[in-house]
Amino acid sequence: MPAEPTLRRKIIHIDMDAFFASVEQRDNPWLRGRPVAVGGSRERGVVAAASYEARKFGVHSAMPSVIAKRKCPDLIFVKPRFDVYKEISHQMRAIFAEYTPIIEPLSLDEAYLDVTENLKGMSSATRIAEEIRARIRAETNLTASAGVSYNKFLAKLASDHRKPDGLFVITPKMGPAFVEILPVRKFHGVGPATAAKMMSLGIETGLDLKACPLAFLQEQFRKSGPYYYWITRGIDERPVRADRIRKSVGAENIFAADLFTFDAARDALQPILDKVWRYCDSAGSRGRTVTLKVKYADFQQITRSRSAASPFATRAELERQSFELLAHLFPVAKGVRLLGVSLSSLDEERTNEKPQLSLGL
Ligand SMILES: [Mg+2]
Repeated sequence: MPAEPTLRRKIIHIDMDAFFASVEQRDNPWLRGRPVAVGGSRERGVVAAASYEARKFGVHSAMPSVIAKRKCPDLIFVKPRFDVYKEISHQMRAIFAEYTPIIEPLSLDEAYLDVTENLKGMSSATRIAEEIRARIRAETNLTASAGVSYNKFLAKLASDHRKPDGLFVITPKMGPAFVEILPVRKFHGVGPATAAKMMSLGIETGLDLKACPLAFLQEQFRKSGPYYYWITRGIDERPVRADRIRKSVGAENIFAADLFTFDAARDALQPILDKVWRYCDSAGSRGRTVTLKVKYADFQQITRSRSAASPFATRAELERQSFELLAHLFPVAKGVRLLGVSLSSLDEERTNEKPQLSLGL
């Protein structure tokens, strides 16, 4: 059973406010104060982010654009500019890194920070969170909300509590009570399907969930059972995982017409290799195992892998290994309808520093 150590950690969750939409309003004054949705306005478009003005009408991210427009007829659709968002994300990361190396990004605009021990030697996580918020505002002209607590689960709840442009601290004393009054659908890790299942079991709030025995939760929710059991008691031992990265990265294409020659297949592989390598560059990661996937016209699928002693340093190296794998498969008896390349054994360096005892959030 988790004992004290969990209460000694100092975790901050930082989350930008209506990120994509706020960036668009920052860069285009005309959009300020107006309901803005970032995303495609067309028939099958989806809202990627909604400004607070749009949210008042019930528009939210992941909502089909058609529905969003119905809810808010004056809604202004703006195309996303991911390079701008990524740039800001890097700026944020640089600010975080001045305080701690233990940063776990959840998305472009969200991250957990473990500041139990930090590079500035500050004892107050709340002060660190305030400083980070001020720095983000000064350097990006955007607002972020922060949650401070002794574990990830509560820190994330806290950052949501005073949004936008807010900061909230959940102390060990407040933790369990804070979770009790919360509707379960607001729990991080409880998706719509799980929330519906909990509803059907009569579980609506944290308190309802807390009343369930561990064995019952395990039976109903399998592996997630113990997680639910502990978080309703304000206990979450998951560490902040620095530089958490994907285990593999891959891309594939299905072709309009089947391919029969090595030359055609090799050409078709180029954009796939580009895509894989672009990810490696943007994430700064390198892999040493390449896997080629081939699906034939009759839907038979095969994969061929090869591991190098050290990670591929250049795209050319990855290309050469992929082509060699491909060459072995030719000539083919049947057409190739899909090709894919994935790169695995990605570098997984992480810092696992032992937090020290220190008090006060
Ligand atoms: Mg956000």
